[in-house]
Amino acid sequence: MFNLSHHIQQIQSSPTLALNETARQLHASGAAVINLGIGEPLNPCPEAAIRMARAKLESGQVKYSPVSGDSTFKEAVQKYTVDLYGRTPKLENITVTVGAKQALFNLFQVLLDPGDEVLIFTPYWVSYPEMIKLARGVPVKVATNEAFIPDMESILEAITGKTKAILLNSPNNPSAAIYPPELVAALVDLCESRKIYLIMDDIYNQLVFEPGEWVPGYVFTSHPINKSHLVVVNGISKTYGMTGFRIGWAIGATPVIRAMNKIQSHSTSGVSILLQEAALGALTGGAETVRELQTLIRTNRDILVRELRKIKGLRIQEPAGTFYCFPDLQEISGDSEKLANLLLEKAYVATVPGSAFGADGFLRLSYAGSTEEIIEGAARIRWALDPDSPPDIVIAGETHRRTWEIDRL
Ligand code: PMP
Ligand code: GLU
Repeated sequence: MFNLSHHIQQIQSSPTLALNETARQLHASGAAVINLGIGEPLNPCPEAAIRMARAKLESGQVKYSPVSGDSTFKEAVQKYTVDLYGRTPKLENITVTVGAKQALFNLFQVLLDPGDEVLIFTPYWVSYPEMIKLARGVPVKVATNEAFIPDMESILEAITGKTKAILLNSPNNPSAAIYPPELVAALVDLCESRKIYLIMDDIYNQLVFEPGEWVPGYVFTSHPINKSHLVVVNGISKTYGMTGFRIGWAIGATPVIRAMNKIQSHSTSGVSILLQEAALGALTGGAETVRELQTLIRTNRDILVRELRKIKGLRIQEPAGTFYCFPDLQEISGDSEKLANLLLEKAYVATVPGSAFGADGFLRLSYAGSTEEIIEGAARIRWALDPDSPPDIVIAGETHRRTWEIDRL
């Protein structure tokens, strides 16, 4: 009856956002849910962001923004890029978008012709394949090794005459790996020499546990931004805990950015000037918030990894960055959806099954919430999955007994 396009019927909704909705509803219905599913810091956003947004709102001057972004905010992005990347983009090399998500979405729209291929590394963030398909492109999944790092040989094998771009996310969602500088250097060289776009999704670039481990792609190119095939995507959602403000940006060669602006001019128009003002507050006065988040996630990571390692059959690699960990539960069950459902229904802990990221047998746990929640969440997961742990647990004042055999899953 409803004749939707063939195209949209090929696209899946975002499983991470759907899961967040389920966890939210469960929570609203009174269940003591701990949400380790969504990748969202729970700390309050920088005070400077609120102050500046409030002043803007009170001025009553909340009008259309220039399509590519407000110039004062773009200057702040420029400074951020100089400070963190050692590169100075011109303002025309920057476009401000509705989150990093829209930057990536617009980018695929302007780069891809039907059938063009984009290399993504497994495990990959849930939205990459769907965004590429929405632009009528083809996601080509390249496997990684045990440490979730791709090797050059597999990358070269996956490249065809139709390869238009390689998408790299480091620190990585969901694996929490950071790609070694030698690999990034080799990819930058490869892409510059073959005129393949190298899209670097750097949204977790400040959430790194060992300083210096993450090295930006710009370090390895001698090409000026306007001659380079490197496009860097970033945003304030993760670093400043400002997911709901929906501000991101892309930096690339002027023709690429202009083409993205064309899409923006006919779709969302310039991003809300009010929210850009808040983002300006974050970039100019939010350093303390970033430091606090860095401290919190280090504590949370250490606790969570230590506790998960006690679970029989679970293997976990130490996260190098982000606020995720990606334990391997294949010895417990190859069906990560079943495990995630079990954890949600019995232990009231939301996690994301690895299958959503192209890696069944794994679970993604996000630890950007409070340390109390992480301790409680880890205890419940251990109770639900480890047959050697005590059979009873108290959740929100009620005793629950483990009545299932995990190997029967
Ligand atoms: N890239 C990655 C790898 C992500 O995990 C996210 C999470 N939302 C995004 C991009 C998009 O972020 P946002 O649109 O909130 O800026
Ligand atoms: N990127 C976050 C995650 O992976 C937020 C949800 C989303 O946008 O997919 O959980």
